[in-house]
Amino acid sequence: MNKRIAIIGGGAAGLAAACALGKGSDITIYERNDRVGKKLLSTGNGRCNIVNTNLSPKQLHSKNNEMVSEILGTSPVSEIMTFFENLGLLMRIEYEGRVYPLCNQASAVLDVLRYEACEKGVNFRYNFCVTDIKKTTDGFMLKSGNESAIADIVILACGGMAAPKTGSDGIGYNLAKAFGHSINNPLPALVALKSDTSFTAPLKGIRCKVAVKLVAGKDVITSESGEIQFADYGISGIAAMQLSRHLAKGCRIIIDFAELYNEDYILYRLKEAVKKYREAQDIMTGIVQKRVAQSILKHTLAIAPSTPAGKLSEQDLNKLTKAIKGLELDINGTLKWDNAQITSGGIPLSEITSSMESKLVKNLYITGEMLDCDGECGGYNLGWAWICALRAANSINKELSLC
Ligand SMILES: Cc1cc2nc3c(=O)[nH]c(=O)nc-3n(C[C@H](O)[C@H](O)[C@H](O)COP(=O)(O)OP(=O)(O)OC[C@H]3O[C@@H](n4cnc5c(N)ncnc54)[C@H](O)[C@@H]3O)c2cc1C
Repeated sequence: MNKRIAIIGGGAAGLAAACALGKGSDITIYERNDRVGKKLLSTGNGRCNIVNTNLSPKQLHSKNNEMVSEILGTSPVSEIMTFFENLGLLMRIEYEGRVYPLCNQASAVLDVLRYEACEKGVNFRYNFCVTDIKKTTDGFMLKSGNESAIADIVILACGGMAAPKTGSDGIGYNLAKAFGHSINNPLPALVALKSDTSFTAPLKGIRCKVAVKLVAGKDVITSESGEIQFADYGISGIAAMQLSRHLAKGCRIIIDFAELYNEDYILYRLKEAVKKYREAQDIMTGIVQKRVAQSILKHTLAIAPSTPAGKLSEQDLNKLTKAIKGLELDINGTLKWDNAQITSGGIPLSEITSSMESKLVKNLYITGEMLDCDGECGGYNLGWAWICALRAANSINKELSLC
């Protein structure tokens, strides 16, 4: 009799595992939603940033980077791209190595996975939320309410806790815990920052390309260059979200609105502008957006935008220069799980093999965002989910001699 393989979760990792498993087994995806791949559709703003050509342990954060390296292997990107090419998905490499489907639609990524799985005869059980898995003498027993199912091999692909409306609310951790696995504290990551809003709220919706540092006391914890977007609660945008996983108590951010220019040059430009413009709000013209200039004036000098430019002292211009080159905002947390793209923390990699098999329970595999490994923005998280799925599937294929 064919071995029964149960994949819990029809997200990125679950679907990819189903597609990569060889023929000759009885594969079922158990998905709590009424369809698979709900989160995939919202990735990359509907375009799905499939992977990044720079995928390496450097962009993946985990307590066990050696294991990340072992799991990735030597050429994870070409493995992933070949996998998708074989499914018929053409891709394009864009800015900073981000790989997207050529047709620009996340739905195409989901479709090729679904078609391949259907073609292989994979069974789909929808609205089946696995709440309990027990080891039996010769396999596993899965439970969802009054329903049950049996399997010889189980692949956990339940995701983490980010974007719970798509189905990943952390329930998968309970399944792993019941087998004795531990969970490194899951926290929302790639998520917007809450800050002192007196500066950000009036600028709601405005996007700027900046350099931004996360600082605690005098220490720079990390820094990013890229886009931020002001909001009524604080700051979002990729550059700000990248900082979120590094937050500590008492952090602040320092925003440089003119990364390519030094303070002396900005001060010189302001001094020239004072001679030219009538109102204070205009002297930052050509350096920052007008509304940003108005907010900087208010925040830094507490003066009205229409204050005559000639009234600004040398000291005022120095203060404005400092604000343009290093505006400081206190950070007091992040938005919550609904707004997070990923989970940092999860099941420690030390508890699985590099084939994604649990070291505690034979024939139990754990993949994707459930694990304590989170990537930067740019295709690294899906990259991780796909590669985990391929590793698990390859190992099972070998074990069962599937082709
Ligand atoms: C808005 C947004 C945009 C993103 N954009 C990108 C991007 O462009 N590039 C990138 O690399 N990453 C992106 N990510 C991150 C990426 O989507 C995730 O890291 C990735 O989907 C994780 O894959 P996974 O299979 O581990 O989990 P998920 O994709 O979350 O899949 C888990 C699945 O398991 C199901 N499930 C959970 N528990 C159970 C259960 N007990 N029983 C049955 N089913 C269950 C869920 O319903 C879900 O379908 C984005 C995330 C979000 C929220």
